[in-house]
Amino acid sequence: MTEIPGAAEYGIDIPIPETEIEDLLSVGPADVTAPEELSFCRNVFVPLTTACRYTCTYCTYFDPPGQASLQTPEQIRETVRMGADAGCTEALFTFGDDPDDRYTEIHEQLAEWGHDSIHSYLREACEIALDEGLLPHSNPGDQTREQMAAVADVNASMGVMLETTADVAAHGGPRAKNPGQRLNTIRNAGELGVPFTTGILVGIGEDWRDRAESLLAIRAMHERYGHVQEVLVQPVVENERWRGGTPDVGTLRRAVAMARYCLPADVSVQVPPNLAPAREVIDCGVDDLGGVSPVTDDYINPDYEWPALRQLEDIADHAGVPLTERLPVYERFLADDREREWVSARVRERIGADDAAGQRYRAVLDD
Ligand code: SF4
Repeated sequence: MTEIPGAAEYGIDIPIPETEIEDLLSVGPADVTAPEELSFCRNVFVPLTTACRYTCTYCTYFDPPGQASLQTPEQIRETVRMGADAGCTEALFTFGDDPDDRYTEIHEQLAEWGHDSIHSYLREACEIALDEGLLPHSNPGDQTREQMAAVADVNASMGVMLETTADVAAHGGPRAKNPGQRLNTIRNAGELGVPFTTGILVGIGEDWRDRAESLLAIRAMHERYGHVQEVLVQPVVENERWRGGTPDVGTLRRAVAMARYCLPADVSVQVPPNLAPAREVIDCGVDDLGGVSPVTDDYINPDYEWPALRQLEDIADHAGVPLTERLPVYERFLADDREREWVSARVRERIGADDAAGQRYRAVLDD
């Protein structure tokens, strides 16, 4: 059995036998089949705040205290309205991780707007998106069960990247991210019945054994709760803070094949085509290309433009498969024969509404 850093601290009990790790380490592209179709989602990026309590060395998203931004309700409304007008279905709320006490300006601004936490403000942001005709998918970093419960009913789905179960120097420094805490967030989603997106980040100092362990940890969480809808296999990319290189295509192909091999068929494997050579890895089991935005930049990786929709079609054509649109919550979580209510009455009501937004959502479901 392996010992995941931080797991004991958070009471994470997911035994991963060495034999399963060894089995997965023997998997390569020849052991998986190519997908029958590729999906994507039309979204707008809303970078709610760039404040983050961590300082991951590969990340250009976070700003230090005094420089971090916080979008106003008016900015949020303007962006999501543009997205709805452009035919999007998803408002992707991105964050740093829970701003700590160093971010006094952020906390003062939140207080001025009547919020005692970033999660309280996230709830208002999600309400704006629902009102304007987009389904929220929030990725606010690590969340306690109480934080997630405060916003679960106004999100169609949520997410956090596990990245890796290993203790890597790239997460180091005085405020290091903790794999056990990430797994705790994924477990919270399972317990609360939130359809969830997670994934691994490849090339931040982890080795092949760590990649196998990370994928098996995600699978174990999904086996327990059934809530994981997609798993990203994302390569780290060079930027002004990261000069550690990016994984080569062969590495990415093997990592994608391992993900496809170990995850159940109903969990999608996604590569972000603005960060990875998607054409060269689709046959390793990728069946989703993530979100594409006709309106906003990819604020997480601003140096890398989102490919236009035409480029996604080219990737699908190259793979010889159809490209289909999906909602931010995968359709199986909306099915009538589900054993568990995965989507809140509030979100379900929006999808069924007899207005332009409801018609747009249902047109995607009928696609
Ligand atoms: S990767 Fe996420 S947790 Fe790490 S510094 Fe960037 S925003 Fe914060």
